[in-house]
Amino acid sequence: MTPTKRPAVFLDRDGTIIEDVGYLDTLDRVAFFPWTVDTIRALNRAGLAVVVVTNQSGIARGLFTDAFVEETHRYLTARLETGGARVDAYYYCPHHADGTVAEYSRRCDCRKPAPGLIDRATNDLGLDPARSFVVGDRWLDVQLGRAVGARAILVRTGVGSVQETRPPSGVTADAVVDNLAAAASWILNDLRSGDPMIGDRRSPIIDRRSPI
Ligand SMILES: [Mg+2]
Ligand SMILES: [Zn+2]
Repeated sequence: MTPTKRPAVFLDRDGTIIEDVGYLDTLDRVAFFPWTVDTIRALNRAGLAVVVVTNQSGIARGLFTDAFVEETHRYLTARLETGGARVDAYYYCPHHADGTVAEYSRRCDCRKPAPGLIDRATNDLGLDPARSFVVGDRWLDVQLGRAVGARAILVRTGVGSVQETRPPSGVTADAVVDNLAAAASWILNDLRSGDPMIGDRRSPIIDRRSPI
């Protein structure tokens, strides 16, 4: 019997789990939204994989290094851990077609909305994009969700409230909500309202004692 592939929540980073400060280039500029830790813990308890997918073209532009991005993700992990929350994996795109760092200055298949980051996560972690969710503050996050067959939620934090007023033609989100906490509520409701495959799981996916 093949093991069941897990549903996941793919989270954008800047503007979705932490404040969008432009190109984040020092750790002292990391600012969690006040609801982020509790929300990620609730998603953990619901049995969802939590995966961060982030465009970091500042690497290709020479503004910071890939080592700094990885240090930032270790820092986020440590901060989340103090609140009992866990991101299962981080994936970032270091590329940009107009970069200045030769190694990363090219078109790629992983700059969102291209699906490369989610494709890698899906292979690495055994995920099921069709039962998964993408949450972000830009339409490109919604487009990413569409590209992989996941449900897609736009949040109004970061640049989301501006993005909301300017949807690209033909792109709609499954939901537009105020922030990550509201997105998680939407997701957990969506799961409760009946995914038969999730109902099949050996352990309950929803921990009803953990409202957001
Ligand atoms: Mg963002
Ligand atoms: Zn890339």
